[in-house]
Amino acid sequence: MLKAKTALVTGSTSGIGLGMARALAGAGANVLLNGFGDGAEIEKLRAGIESEFGVQVAYDNADMTRPDQIEKMITSAEQRFGGIDILVNNAGIQHVAPVDQFPTERWDAIIAINLSSAFHTIRCTLPAMKSRGWGRIVNIASVHGLVASVEKAAYVAAKHGIVGLTKVVALENARSGITCNAICPGWVLTPLVQKQIDARAAAQGISVEEAKVALLSEKQPSVDFVTPEQIGELLLFLCSDAAQQVRGAAWTIDGGWTAQ
Ligand code: NAD
Repeated sequence: MLKAKTALVTGSTSGIGLGMARALAGAGANVLLNGFGDGAEIEKLRAGIESEFGVQVAYDNADMTRPDQIEKMITSAEQRFGGIDILVNNAGIQHVAPVDQFPTERWDAIIAINLSSAFHTIRCTLPAMKSRGWGRIVNIASVHGLVASVEKAAYVAAKHGIVGLTKVVALENARSGITCNAICPGWVLTPLVQKQIDARAAAQGISVEEAKVALLSEKQPSVDFVTPEQIGELLLFLCSDAAQQVRGAAWTIDGGWTAQ
């Protein structure tokens, strides 16, 4: 379905990004991976996806806090693949603290990675999408792009921001073949969430399993995690022709979190 297309997924060395990169490769797209981690592990992931799905897979270690590195990554991807057709803004970090104790350095990093990096990737990839008359931009927001939780000031601000950015980009390209949408997941069991589970277990003196159930029960009515594979399938739908008129949406996949 996505043969001859090229996809960039930021933050795809782990978690949801990796799940989406695999889904795109499975649908025939060439994929540019990005994110941090052990070099040998990342090379194993890259080569594994390439041979499993028979597509080209490249890796770029651009730091999403650095506009110059983002620009360079996209220029070199355009040289190698002829342009990015599918842009998935996924890289993200979390920090949990009350707003009056929130470290300013963490605030700046979260806004840079979870929000500003999407502005930079979008402004750099749009010209080539426009010249080809087709594109898919999918921003991985969160339920926290729609509702708030305590102690997540920077994350909630960034995610609400990316839902707003999604709408503007969708409107500016509404008469073209380029769509822009956001996916808003609830809890997904990835390293980003595992840290929060471990912190809860330590703080409350409960087991990690008990902390998992407590975390889910608080917010997610299904009391079950969303999986990266399920998000990958939703992404493929948003990339399909059937989704041509899905524009500017903030699409929840949250076990009922925001229905409450
Ligand atoms: P994760 O920690 O497993 O993966 C984050 C990825 O981002 C990694 O590949 C990491 O290397 C990369 N990254 C971090 N800082 C970077 C930087 N400066 N430059 C480039 N790459 C960087 O986390 P995840 O849970 O898979 O989260 C992925 C996205 O999904 C995030 O935007 C997150 O906010 C969002 N999200 C996660 C959940 C959840 O429950 N896990 C829910 C809703 C939304």
